[in-house]
Amino acid sequence: MLQAFSADPPCAMCGQTASHVELVPPHAKPVTWQHWSPQERRTFEAARQRRGPQQWWLLYSGIERGNGSGDPVDEARALRIVAAFTEPYCYSAVTTAGFYDDAGFCGQCDAPYCHRHWNVSSSGYGTCPRGHGKSLDPHWWPEDL
Ligand SMILES: [Zn+2]
Ligand SMILES: [Zn+2]
Repeated sequence: MLQAFSADPPCAMCGQTASHVELVPPHAKPVTWQHWSPQERRTFEAARQRRGPQQWWLLYSGIERGNGSGDPVDEARALRIVAAFTEPYCYSAVTTAGFYDDAGFCGQCDAPYCHRHWNVSSSGYGTCPRGHGKSLDPHWWPEDL
């Protein structure tokens, strides 16, 4: 049974949120709604109205980018995301969610890091505090949000 869900893996170095994953039930509001600006709320409502208020909705903020006001998500993918982000978090599970940056997790460390601790270069290549590198370039992330 799918329920409202959110996950905020904390950076292993500083404890700041590395990434934010949220599943918003049909017709419901995001959990952080009270902190959204009027502009952000309008954009969200318009996007959901356009693409289906009866659908589950995915909000994602990653290291370099997120999906803005979100995207509709089918229940099968939503259930996979819940399974991927069930605590305790681990890289092998998180990576099954299919986010471009694995929600900020370093595979070798099996730990998440925030944007600052990934030391992201201008080309989108990140290096974790222990020297492991990977691309955090969200080039494939859909543009039409
Ligand atoms: Zn950090
Ligand atoms: Zn690492």
